[in-house]
Amino acid sequence: MSMVSIIVPCYNEKEALPYFFPEIRKVANILFATKGLSFEFLFVNDGSRDGTLELLREFAAEDDRVRYISFSRNFGKEAAMYAGFQHAKGDYVVLMDADLQHPPAMLEEMYLAVKEEGYDIAAARRVSRKGEPPIRSFFARCFYRLINKISKAEFEDGASDFRMFSRQAVEAILELGEVNRFSKGIFGWVGFNTKWIPYENVERVAGETNWSFWKLFLYSLDGIIAFSTAPLAIASVVGILFCVVAFIWMIAIIVKTLVWGDPVAGYPTLACLLLLIGGSIQLSLGILGQYLAKTYLETKHRPIYIIGETDEMQKQERSAL
Ligand code: UDP
Ligand code: MG
Repeated sequence: MSMVSIIVPCYNEKEALPYFFPEIRKVANILFATKGLSFEFLFVNDGSRDGTLELLREFAAEDDRVRYISFSRNFGKEAAMYAGFQHAKGDYVVLMDADLQHPPAMLEEMYLAVKEEGYDIAAARRVSRKGEPPIRSFFARCFYRLINKISKAEFEDGASDFRMFSRQAVEAILELGEVNRFSKGIFGWVGFNTKWIPYENVERVAGETNWSFWKLFLYSLDGIIAFSTAPLAIASVVGILFCVVAFIWMIAIIVKTLVWGDPVAGYPTLACLLLLIGGSIQLSLGILGQYLAKTYLETKHRPIYIIGETDEMQKQERSAL
């Protein structure tokens, strides 16, 4: 009998989980009855401060398909997904948000794609950005256009993290042990056949999103730095262009001085040039610094997350009493 692991990253999801858990159980029970699939629900509590952990303990006590990992603090969704992949035992692994924005009913179609149609990854893709602020959609589109130009990994616009992976794809993803994780890029980078399944965006059932516009913007910069070195190349090209222009200009100035003499003029030109060149040097240094910072963080080889509690630890503690 095949097993499906459902990984659910949770950060302050006390309000959404009581809706999510019965829904996913319903779908799991149907798939168990019709397809003979067994399930494990692997919740990753990403340092929630709202009693999510207590709720997960209850879930684990009432249903032995439930497992959980609880981090010692908030490490971010990327870390939570990685921890999920490392601990999932299933033949098929699914990533899913806790807020029911990812319809559990799609699981059957995903399973058929991976099991019977020969895909390694079945991923949900939003067909529209309805309900999203227009400015956010605009920047998102620009981001996808840009990153696909400058990176080798494929980035699909509207691709969500709601995906089912074959065991083989999971092992491949685990091979990428980088600290600065950008999953959308990692999933594309490992390759494999991906089936895109369209779905309509739905509102979160309860609780609040953890993403502000600013957070998303910084995240997209992370993605560019993690999956492309184009900004470094652009900085170099701009540098070369400046040199060429400066050289031609220099010759022009020498010729002009020899022919017409040297009246004191050109202060505005000088000021503009200084600003322009200073600015571009600053920008290049900044870009360089970003890559250096990421390299610095990677070379520390810090763990991606730290576990505070798991369902197994909890069980052992209880049996020791
Ligand atoms: N999440 C997480 N750690 C974080 C932020 C979010 O594990 O630091 C989880 C969150 O609990 C949810 C999923 O990631 O299950 C998606 O988060 P959210 O709904 O806030 O993002 P959105 O759907 O708005 O992109
Ligand atoms: Mg959400």
